[in-house]
Amino acid sequence: MKSYKIIVIGSGFGGQCAAINLLKKGINDFCILERRNFMGGTWCQNSYPGAAVDVQSPLYSFSFEPYNWSQMFAAQDELEEYTNFVIDKYKLREKTFLNTNVEKLEWLKDEKKWLIHTDKETFKSQFIINSSGPLSTPFYPNFKGKDSFKGETFHTNNWNPNFNLKGKKVAVIGSGASAAQVIPAIVDEVKELNVFQRTPHWVMHRPDKIFTKFQRKLLKRRWIYNLVRYYTYWSLESRVIAFKYSDFLLKIFAKNKAVKHINKSLKNRADLIEKVTPDYTIGCKRIILSNTLYPAFAKENSHLFTREEQIAEITETGIITTKGTKVDLDLIVYATGYDATDSVISYPIIGKNNMFVGSFWSEFPRAYLGTTLPNFPNLFILTGPNTGIGHTSAIFVIESQMHYILDSINAVDKNNAQAIEVTARAEDKYTTFIHSEMEKTVWKRGNCTSWYQSKSGHVIAMFPGFTFTYLKMAKNFKIKDHNLIK
Ligand code: NAP
Repeated sequence: MKSYKIIVIGSGFGGQCAAINLLKKGINDFCILERRNFMGGTWCQNSYPGAAVDVQSPLYSFSFEPYNWSQMFAAQDELEEYTNFVIDKYKLREKTFLNTNVEKLEWLKDEKKWLIHTDKETFKSQFIINSSGPLSTPFYPNFKGKDSFKGETFHTNNWNPNFNLKGKKVAVIGSGASAAQVIPAIVDEVKELNVFQRTPHWVMHRPDKIFTKFQRKLLKRRWIYNLVRYYTYWSLESRVIAFKYSDFLLKIFAKNKAVKHINKSLKNRADLIEKVTPDYTIGCKRIILSNTLYPAFAKENSHLFTREEQIAEITETGIITTKGTKVDLDLIVYATGYDATDSVISYPIIGKNNMFVGSFWSEFPRAYLGTTLPNFPNLFILTGPNTGIGHTSAIFVIESQMHYILDSINAVDKNNAQAIEVTARAEDKYTTFIHSEMEKTVWKRGNCTSWYQSKSGHVIAMFPGFTFTYLKMAKNFKIKDHNLIK
């Protein structure tokens, strides 16, 4: 059986960040397990037309690895290039087992190690860094007759690049961030585009820009790149004030602009303006940045179905709506998001005293600093509960988590211990603090439903504060919040 000091699960930005930080600390005794036949995670998997990031690329990248971006908001292909550049630069391929799907983790109480069951072989390791990502299990609503459709069906997460869209009758189900990118990207190619929107999202102007040759030359200077990064970070961070404390600021700086964006993009289309205008507080669901979505809805070959006329049934040939409209289709695209809330990790994890993570999370997912759980020694979860952010780069939070993880591993080594475990008291105190802060945020009080919320009603995806506050907490390792196991 292969045995390592640390096993990293997943090779997306989280897994890469973990691996590179370990290498920088001189820790070589680790491997990465990746279930797919390629490395890179979300930005290599999500190759649907129009896929692009909605956080400025100089910030949505590793702080230690700048890149010569061609535009402010990189498209998926450039993100994939960046990902592969990072993976190759740090020689992470030689550390990785591809096609290795983790099926179960089990704590061995005598050996004080983890047993990792995969579909290939079993591994053993002292520490686990889980970076399987919160948005990796596509969600398919269970529509009546779903499996009877004889045409082509795929999820945005699993786009079939060989399907020829030209002249086809297509339905896109959903209106979130993925749908908002696919719809304008395919509307001119298909014969007919039917969008099934259950709830409209607030959409704002996307301030993208292609960098000129001269700007790219300037951005190659590290201090200029960092200046752009810092400026972007602080301007995005200021949004937390509105998300957390002020509906008034949300109205002035976001809602009014979004309403203007709708009216300007859909001039003379009062019918569409009514359909796309949300009735909940802006920011409650993730705000979409797009200059092309509304014009796509206004095209002659596109039709927007709303909550008033939803999907009643899927048949062999298409969709029948609740008003009895029969929509003939060649392709159904599920842009219906991810199973992201109550099952953050898709495989069972059995810790001390036969405790399952699933049981610990039976009310709602929770973790100290969104990273560690009592009864699960030496287990760290990157992008765990309440580490999400809607306003800035998720990579910033991942890098922050790594401070806490490396300090924890160091505490074990320095004290000649075998394991470290957060105390139940510390975890409970942290989680209570998170959810009392959450009460103030628009994600809790904005009168919407979203993937940020668990079935229990707790907002479990988001961190309710500034990311620099999170970073400060992650850097301030408190040994008293942990038990060392010798
Ligand atoms: P999502 O935001 O969860 O959207 C899912 C969509 O499917 C929603 O419109 C939802 O409607 C609809 N839906 C779900 N169940 C349905 C049902 N039974 N009947 C009808 N409609 C149903 O998923 P996503 O668009 O894939 O985005 C998920 C997250 O991924 C984003 O919030 C973002 O964090 C990330 N993302 C980022 C980017 C980017 O950086 N540019 C791009 C894509 C995704 P309701 O709203 O009514 O529930």
